[in-house]
Amino acid sequence: MKPIRIVTPPLGANVYLIIDERVALIDAGGDAGFLIKALQRYVNPKEIEYLFLTHSHFDHAMAVPEVKRFGCKVVMHSMELDLLNRGLTKLGYVYHFKPDILVFGGETFELGELKLEVIHTPGHTSGSVCYYEPKRKWLFSGDTVFKFGFGRYDFPSGNPYDLLKSLEILRRLNVESLYPGHDDIVEGEARIYIEKNMEILKSLMG
Ligand SMILES: [Zn+2]
Repeated sequence: MKPIRIVTPPLGANVYLIIDERVALIDAGGDAGFLIKALQRYVNPKEIEYLFLTHSHFDHAMAVPEVKRFGCKVVMHSMELDLLNRGLTKLGYVYHFKPDILVFGGETFELGELKLEVIHTPGHTSGSVCYYEPKRKWLFSGDTVFKFGFGRYDFPSGNPYDLLKSLEILRRLNVESLYPGHDDIVEGEARIYIEKNMEILKSLMG
């Protein structure tokens, strides 16, 4: 089955629900009440085993504390935890949580038929990660890359040179479907969009 997308307030961040032997969420959005109601159409929130965060900006992670109460394990990059602890990703909002599993890139999580590989992709934030499903060639790209464009690199810890290197890594993955943190899903030949966005970033950087 394909990931189920839930578009969440306040900034339209995409949350993805993956139902396999283990149920997983990619990102949580910024409105727990909205998300939990939406999730209940598909699962009992207690069934969610993992909550994989692409990064800790408020529009992707402000709902984490309430979702975590249902018992899921929150997975996040160690550098992102540092940013969260220093308040650099909250951008004025108030929320806090402690992840259960810290990742560094290179880890694999088995969900059943599907698995997710962690790829460290700094640039939007220094602790941003993407999650890759190697059999289906799915990429959950957070705010690193979208269908049209890429994440801002002017927030704390953002850096266009890192972002370009990260896009280079993603381009080599041969992504078939792109499930970004905002904007439309691309199902089929998503690699072309990653290449195009990489070219745009390159030209912006001169
Ligand atoms: Zn972001």
